[in-house]
Amino acid sequence: TDVITLSQLTAWLRRYSDTVTAERQYLTDLDAAIGDADHGSNMSRGMAAAVAKIDEATPESVGAFGKAVGMTLVSTVGGASGPLYGTLFLRFGATGGDATELDAAALAAALRAGVDGVIARGKAEAGDKTMLDALLPAVAELEGAAASGAGLAEAAAAAAAAAEAGRDATAPLVAHKGRASYLGERSAGHIDPGAASSALLLRALADELAG
Ligand code: ADP
Ligand code: MG
Ligand code: MG
Repeated sequence: TDVITLSQLTAWLRRYSDTVTAERQYLTDLDAAIGDADHGSNMSRGMAAAVAKIDEATPESVGAFGKAVGMTLVSTVGGASGPLYGTLFLRFGATGGDATELDAAALAAALRAGVDGVIARGKAEAGDKTMLDALLPAVAELEGAAASGAGLAEAAAAAAAAAEAGRDATAPLVAHKGRASYLGERSAGHIDPGAASSALLLRALADELAG
């Protein structure tokens, strides 16, 4: 059956941790332009801690997985991205609950809940030049693909492409939330670091599901 299992969710997290560590300088360079040059280290440290937590706790449900990852991110990342990604995983887990695998529709629903959590916590909206500009189109794509009966791998690939387009579309925007907003108009002309790390999150999912 076409589902993502708990072990694939863990593999996704591990792959994402490896990705943000490999792309640490890229994420930090983006943050150097419009923030405080720590997004790469924040994500690398947070995701490595989340992987270590999962290895130690071996969660037996999507809920336990999301809770362990989310709480670890909130407690190990001091920057804005820690509580925001932490909330994403906490809500993802709360929606997955006792399930040990998710089909495309359930995966879309869990990610939607996670993104709604980011909105609730950070009070940003589409076009504010944040991670939401990658996450929102990705979740919409995932929902649409699930509703039209697409397979998980296909749905995740479409979502990753949407996230990457959303990331690129942050470049001309003026930031309205987070540190980059302190720059006002001078924030335009640079890709948002959080949108870049979110696009990597969706790409890691697509790569994991592509097998
Ligand atoms: P900090 O800005 O505290 O140093 P990071 O550099 O790790 O934290 O993360 C910055 C990213 O967090 C931004 O690029 C943006 O995508 C995201 N971000 C900041 N504030 C918000 C918010 N209120 N809502 C959504 N995303 C936000
Ligand atoms: Mg920063
Ligand atoms: Mg910082």
